Amino acid sequence: MSKKIPKKELLEYKRQLQERKEKIIRKLSELSSQSLEVEASNVAQDVVDKAESSYTKEFLLSLSDAEREQLLLIDDALRRLARDEFGFCQICRKEIGKKRMAALPWTPYCIDCQEKAEEETRGQ
Ligand SMILES: [Zn+2]
Repeated sequence: MSKKIPKKELLEYKRQLQERKEKIIRKLSELSSQSLEVEASNVAQDVVDKAESSYTKEFLLSLSDAEREQLLLIDDALRRLARDEFGFCQICRKEIGKKRMAALPWTPYCIDCQEKAEEETRGQ
């Protein structure tokens, strides 16, 4: 990668992503029983890696579709952060605009690719 996001910005995005993730998980905990709340904090560590276990599947099912999707996107974004790929479109590899990153720090695509993908979905 020729161009890199400054480390300070990356840390800020990381903080935002983790905060958002905790918010979603906390919301679920509030809706659930206490025993589930304890387990939810374990699940918080890495939802995707543990997706094998039936508990995690249950956990994911108990979230709304939008929350579930966002949680997966956030985990994905955190992984990209660790791999130094964060901030770049996963399709065209261009840097994602700052405005877009500020609004949707978990987005894997630039606005162009996102729109293209949505058009294709609509066309089906
Ligand atoms: Zn793109």
